[in-house]
Amino acid sequence: MINQQDRSDLVGIFRGGQTIILKPVYDLLHDISKVANAFSTAQRQAEALGVFTSDRELLECPDCGLLEDVASDGRLITYYKEDGVIEDTGLRFQEVDRVHFCCPSCKCIIELKDEETNHE
Ligand SMILES: [Zn+2]
Repeated sequence: MINQQDRSDLVGIFRGGQTIILKPVYDLLHDISKVANAFSTAQRQAEALGVFTSDRELLECPDCGLLEDVASDGRLITYYKEDGVIEDTGLRFQEVDRVHFCCPSCKCIIELKDEETNHE
């Protein structure tokens, strides 16, 4: 039996209400880091495929009416509100910084509201 006072790098993990597993803190941090890296990789791959990852609100240009939507397969699309037809234009809003996006159609700069960027 390991005396926990002698091993300050060990922590207890409770499973099944009774079992205590001691695992070095470094191993736990390594596991957390692996999960975070896997999530980050999956998010980048999804974005590369055009999937909307819901890390911000959908955009709508107040000047030309171009707006974003998510297709049934999860891809981010844009269409013009007044067209009445939801058909992807292929245009994508360009991120200027964390809260500003540039409309690809009319170059209008759109600012996200505070409550839309609360994922820090
Ligand atoms: Zn626009």
